[in-house]
Amino acid sequence: MTSLYRQAAEMIAAHQPSSALTGAGISAESGIPTFRSKGGLWERFDPTVYASIELFRQDPSKYWSIRGEFIRNYDAYTPNPGHRALADMEALGFLRHVITQNIDGLHRKAGSRSVTEIHGSLREILCTACGREFRAPHIPEGCPPLCPCGGVLKSSSAPRPWSSLPPPCRLWPAARALPS
Ligand SMILES: [Zn+2]
Repeated sequence: MTSLYRQAAEMIAAHQPSSALTGAGISAESGIPTFRSKGGLWERFDPTVYASIELFRQDPSKYWSIRGEFIRNYDAYTPNPGHRALADMEALGFLRHVITQNIDGLHRKAGSRSVTEIHGSLREILCTACGREFRAPHIPEGCPPLCPCGGVLKSSSAPRPWSSLPPPCRLWPAARALPS
């Protein structure tokens, strides 16, 4: 084990309970484009258009034109050693919780069980009319795809109105995992 890994392992062992906070960087190796870095999604798409709930309501096909491909190919994206290491650490009792900004669902795919996805997930697709839940990649055809009730589908991730931010009960496991 190199000294850097040993140092990290010793720090984690000495500072229990520990939690991990992850962002786009951990998923880049899995082929998930980041938002803000060079070559990221926001270089190609205007965030004021694609991250606005008002504009989603006006024209949901814009959102689906950048998100649909990932959601329909959801099974093709796989966790990388970074995701798997955190899942292994949880299984071994060295990691209490993962708090992630990512919406790709790869921590859960890797086997992490205690995860808070603060920005929602592209795995959870909801009907904006009746609330029926779909799981990526199993969604109806179309851009935007429609629920059998006729409602437009949207992932649980942004864009979303403030009123649909995660309720405190969903954030509580993350809050409890942080050092007091
Ligand atoms: Zn519906």
